Amino acid sequence: MHEDILADGLREWESPLYRESLKQFDRVVDVAGLDDNIAERLRVPQRALIVSFPFRHDDYSEVQSVYGYRVQHVLSMGPTKGGIRYAADVNLGEVAALAMLMTWKCAIVGLPFGGAKGGVRIDPLTISRPEKQRITRRFTSEIINFIGPNKDIPAPDMGTDGQTMAWMMDTYSQQVGHSEPAVVTGKPPELGGSVARIEATGRGLLSLLPGSAAHIGMPVEGARVVVHGFGNVGQYAALAAFEMGCKVVAISDVSGGIYDQAGLDIPAAMQWVARTRSLEGFEAGEPITNADLFGLDCDILIPAAIGGAITAENAGDITARIILEGANGPTTSGADDILRDKGVFVVPDILGNAGGVTVSYFEWVQDLQNYFWSETEIVGRLREIMSRAFNEVLSISIDRGIDLRTAALVKGIRRVADAKLARGVFP
Ligand code: GLU
Repeated sequence: MHEDILADGLREWESPLYRESLKQFDRVVDVAGLDDNIAERLRVPQRALIVSFPFRHDDYSEVQSVYGYRVQHVLSMGPTKGGIRYAADVNLGEVAALAMLMTWKCAIVGLPFGGAKGGVRIDPLTISRPEKQRITRRFTSEIINFIGPNKDIPAPDMGTDGQTMAWMMDTYSQQVGHSEPAVVTGKPPELGGSVARIEATGRGLLSLLPGSAAHIGMPVEGARVVVHGFGNVGQYAALAAFEMGCKVVAISDVSGGIYDQAGLDIPAAMQWVARTRSLEGFEAGEPITNADLFGLDCDILIPAAIGGAITAENAGDITARIILEGANGPTTSGADDILRDKGVFVVPDILGNAGGVTVSYFEWVQDLQNYFWSETEIVGRLREIMSRAFNEVLSISIDRGIDLRTAALVKGIRRVADAKLARGVFP
């Protein structure tokens, strides 16, 4: 069916991740008993904005044009929500797929948002901090009519962080004439950011480990963990695993990885990365390539880097019994089939990494009310939402005899479909 859609004049979304997302969606349409008209609507984003804009390099004479995107997948659930990524290969189809994943993610944990995503096609490691600031401010002004606290609320994603959000918030506020913290989430706390937002994705992901391990009868204490990607999600996931008494035996980033059977000192690795921006030069364990990382002997694998990292080629080498997906779209459908056959317990991205957008939701609510909650309150509510969603998805999976990803999609897609049916068609 998705082939027809792509052939049907909708080639603009074409990208590997969009194809994967449609494959997942199409499999669930039958399982969820979805109305054909609704399925047709949900296959494609409702709105997309493409911009191209110039920015000045630090060398004042050089001006470069870059592309930026913002895609809003579903507008029926409330404002749209999702991150902004800066990466060398960002394109419309990838952003559209990620916006669709955000819709399911928000629906699974019950947040009042539809999905969105944005991005700028630029390698963040090749630009200086002032260059990044100029790009961010110009991008924000290009998409200014598309976003807003009641319309569409960006957040950090790959290659962006709290500082990027601060620049976005400042640019938006300058243009509307008053401070508008609720226009983005993931801001520094001084600007109305929420405490515990930075660690929310990693922490939320690991809050699902005890339930997952109990389900397959595996002890958490001493479990060997491999983490692919040591950015915001990977670092805090590794730290949470370390604090839960797991042995984090390998971590990696774009510069390569390190392996130590005895377990790595995660707080030390985080301090190193905070100082130098990468794991390169961190003296611990033995060096290992990102490719070899997936074949390591371990109990838990946490993909927390780019999409499409676990493929049909490397899935067969995976020894982990549990995979906790921190990244968005880290597993291709070919790899998913292999992992399902092997009986690996995969906690899918749309459930596992929903802790980030959940605390973003808390941040947005706090900004709108100008009333800020304590860390204990936030962490408690995050745990409650994550574990409720996990238990609901697990029981769908057990009742229907389907894997967790399919069960999560059934839950998310059903909720959106029911809302769309209830709202009806205008006019
Ligand atoms: N970029 C994150 C995600 O993919 C967070 C989105 C948000 O907080 O709105 O879930």
